[in-house]
Amino acid sequence: MVKVPKFIKKIFYNQVWDIPNAENKIYLTFDDGPTPLITEWVLDILEKENIKATFFCIGNNIEKYPEIFKKTIKAGHSIGNHTFNHLKGWKTASKRYVENIDLCSTIIQQSAIDRHQSLLFRPPYGKIKPNQTRLLRLKGFKIIMWDVLSKDYDQAISPEKCLENTKRTASGSILVFHDSLKAQKNLEYTLPKAIKLLKEKGFVFDTIN
Ligand SMILES: [Zn+2]
Repeated sequence: MVKVPKFIKKIFYNQVWDIPNAENKIYLTFDDGPTPLITEWVLDILEKENIKATFFCIGNNIEKYPEIFKKTIKAGHSIGNHTFNHLKGWKTASKRYVENIDLCSTIIQQSAIDRHQSLLFRPPYGKIKPNQTRLLRLKGFKIIMWDVLSKDYDQAISPEKCLENTKRTASGSILVFHDSLKAQKNLEYTLPKAIKLLKEKGFVFDTIN
């Protein structure tokens, strides 16, 4: 499933699947970083294309690569929380899940140049229990899902198929990519081409806040 059906969005109305707007804006998001070389490669492309995006970071990776994290913030991109160690919500007790996200929040604050706070959260694998959604929303988090999945992480698909997956983007779409080793091959092919095609279609890129 690449494009999320409307009925799913209606059932999971506590989560953000797209951001309707009148300005033809779309939202690039990158999950699972910071990752040496790959995140930096993404940052270079975005700078060259004059695009701001949103990075859903793993706390453990921020601890390992604080300089890349700082560079991402300095470049003006938006930051989101993606748990401390890529925890799967469906398999985790809610209390433990929320504690893991709190730990990531603390690391984001401590590692950021400006004690940056992020109230954006994306559940790893898109798998989160309704109770976990409720608890996070009580803490003020927005749960950011997507409507266009590039599947760049899927090593069984070709780079061409990955690019194809981004072609259903519409105004307000939230696109998911991964600045991770697993996605590298598909990402390196797809991202520059997708940006070019999306610009040709008149889309404007913005951050999620
Ligand atoms: Zn992830």
